[in-house]
Amino acid sequence: MLIIDCHCHYGPGDGLTGPWDTRADLSKFMRWSKEAGIHKTNLFPAFHSDYDRANACVAKLVGKYPDLFFGFAFIHSERNAGRVIGMVRKAVQEFGFCGIKVHRHDARITREVCEAARTFRLPVLYDVMGEVSQVELLATEYADLNFIIPHLGSFADDWKAQLNFIPMLERHPNVFTDTSGIRRFDLLEMAVQRAGPHKILFGSDGPWLHPGVELEKVFALRLQPQEEAKVLGENFLQLISTVARQPPKTRSMADSPVAGQRFADDPWLREGVVV
Ligand SMILES: [Zn+2]
Repeated sequence: MLIIDCHCHYGPGDGLTGPWDTRADLSKFMRWSKEAGIHKTNLFPAFHSDYDRANACVAKLVGKYPDLFFGFAFIHSERNAGRVIGMVRKAVQEFGFCGIKVHRHDARITREVCEAARTFRLPVLYDVMGEVSQVELLATEYADLNFIIPHLGSFADDWKAQLNFIPMLERHPNVFTDTSGIRRFDLLEMAVQRAGPHKILFGSDGPWLHPGVELEKVFALRLQPQEEAKVLGENFLQLISTVARQPPKTRSMADSPVAGQRFADDPWLREGVVV
């Protein structure tokens, strides 16, 4: 059975607060990962003040060992504002990356990031840091995008946030989570039972957490083999299967509908909503 770790950091940070912004070293992690029977790992940088550099560093390793790694581009919604599409294009077309990572610790996710994801049909892994209410907006405003909300919405083990997130995971077909760092096993079990194994992805949050320890949580769910296979790798492969290396050209003004047609097509008006 193919086992893919969907959540691991790699490369130097340029902060000095903790391991998360200082250094993500894979030397021990890769041995742990191999011992645990994990086949492939999805990488993105640690926190960094320059994600162009940090993503390029991940790209080097992913490019060198494409059989071992996938890559996601880390984007800072505020600092990279105005140039997200260019960064994402480079990540997809030059680095071969297959998703976007955004962290609330940097800044709240923006429409610009979502629209770049839409252009290349990428999944977005967004750590909301307990701010789970925004997931409701993301899921509905961008119903055609897939969002992975790691740690059931809170790495900090915020029980209320995780509990509030589970109904959203259940309700929205485009909302997913990963198992990384979840300590409250009863909540993980509740998430699987209510939302289904097709909504959960195995992830470790390496290299700071042991992938074998994190993997045992998935086995402890005692799923049917076909369900377990989804969590361990198939869900991730499904999410990255949509990636468009060459997105369709954006429509020019000449292609735009005339004003009257646009009016008739407006769902707000069609449904008689007056704003
Ligand atoms: Zn992480």
